[in-house]
Amino acid sequence: MTLLVSEVNEKLVENFKEVVSWRRHMHQHPELSFKEEKTALYIKEKLISFGLEVKTNIGGHGLIGILKGAHPGKTIGLRADFDGLPIHDEKEVPYKSQNPGVMHACGHDGHTAALLGTAKVLSGYREKLKGNVVFIFQPAEETPPGGAKFMIENGALEGVDYVFGAHLDSQTPVGKVTTGEGYQMAAVDKFSITIQGKGGHGAKPHEAVDSIVIASEIVSSLQKIVSRSVDPLRSAVVTIGVFQAGSAFNVIADKAVLEGTVRTFDASIRKQVEERIRCIVNGITVAFGASAVIDYLNGYPALYNHPEETETVRNLLIDEFSEGNVEEMEPSMGAEDFSYFLLEKPGTYFRVGSRNECETTHYPHHHPKFDIDEQALLNIERSFVKIVSHYLF
Ligand code: MN
Repeated sequence: MTLLVSEVNEKLVENFKEVVSWRRHMHQHPELSFKEEKTALYIKEKLISFGLEVKTNIGGHGLIGILKGAHPGKTIGLRADFDGLPIHDEKEVPYKSQNPGVMHACGHDGHTAALLGTAKVLSGYREKLKGNVVFIFQPAEETPPGGAKFMIENGALEGVDYVFGAHLDSQTPVGKVTTGEGYQMAAVDKFSITIQGKGGHGAKPHEAVDSIVIASEIVSSLQKIVSRSVDPLRSAVVTIGVFQAGSAFNVIADKAVLEGTVRTFDASIRKQVEERIRCIVNGITVAFGASAVIDYLNGYPALYNHPEETETVRNLLIDEFSEGNVEEMEPSMGAEDFSYFLLEKPGTYFRVGSRNECETTHYPHHHPKFDIDEQALLNIERSFVKIVSHYLF
């Protein structure tokens, strides 16, 4: 088995220049979530040229390439996302975005190029494969409701036994990878609260219902959900990002609008926080003689890495990259819709370091100068090949 992986790795190295050229092509031609028509076509043509069975338009622009092994066995799903962001590319490199205001600032171009490279090389090993690989190319990771949910609803995971995903990480040096079991990324909810009071003259508060004072009470009380209602050994965030009200210094505002986000890991805490928000908003507005409308949207669920598969992958990556290069992932309150795949199938999501000594690779994800050490693409490929070799060779 070890011999075979090193043989496959040699092929990955031979193909590496091409993978870099694919990444740069996609980097130059980024497309926004739900609008990735050209990228989807680009991926489709590549998958066909590798001789894979291809299914397109899965829940939007999603597509899969299916590699059927010559021998029976499990089916592994490997996933890459391929949407860009509404950010203007500020890098000065030959492969900078040619689509003004749109940029691959999270590395999804790299995920896709690396998964294509993996597909190309593994498609030469059909005769040896005990089982199948489904290469899952997912659009719209950046914009809820996201692409994952629709791909799954449209059968992307049919027959898949395990699912794995990787993300580039500019905070981790190239050559290192991070893994971690359990909850690693948060569930994201978004809410808006419209408080309706009664406008009036700033000098006659007794004749009005001041929506600003009421909204202030609400903002202040919402901060007590995490400190007073949530088990201190669990995590939650309640953030108000928008507070809009008023039009003049001497007028009591009749209406105030608050918008915010809730981040949680645990599904029961998620529900508890929503209930507390509704209760507090209702109680305060009733107490002050106002009314409120709450619009509460559940976004991506929390990302849960299955312990058994995470342990398996961690050991495989230690074998591939050495013990010192596999570190513990730090959980984040950010979100990722790969969580939907992990709700359906056992598997894990890991990060692959993409920074080197050069400062151009140090920018955080979603920064207008975000860039990667492209060697990280080879490390994603090696990780995927190692995982496939464990389950299917
Ligand atoms: Mn991302």
